[in-house]
Amino acid sequence: MKYCQKCGKELVDEAVVCTGCGCTVEQPKKENGGNDGLAVASKIFLILGCIAQGWLLLPLAWCLPITISICKKMKKGEPVGAGLKVCALLFVNMIGGILLLCRSDEQ
Ligand SMILES: [Zn+2]
Repeated sequence: MKYCQKCGKELVDEAVVCTGCGCTVEQPKKENGGNDGLAVASKIFLILGCIAQGWLLLPLAWCLPITISICKKMKKGEPVGAGLKVCALLFVNMIGGILLLCRSDEQ
């Protein structure tokens, strides 16, 4: 059984025109055994690609808090802890971390 895509009426599999609304019914795509393996493989690779891209977003979970806390401390004129600077150097941005370590907190 298949259903009309326009009105949802139940149709026989051979139907070309919907008996409910009169619109032409799309023929179901023929299953191609040769392409199925490729389809499954491409789906798997696409999903893997999504997961790989997702991992790239993970550093944001610690990059953003480190950056925000350093920015807040600098705005308030509070000293930025050495640990925080090293974290910034290692996890956020090497040049930014080195500059922070070079910067004197005493003004
Ligand atoms: Zn219909």
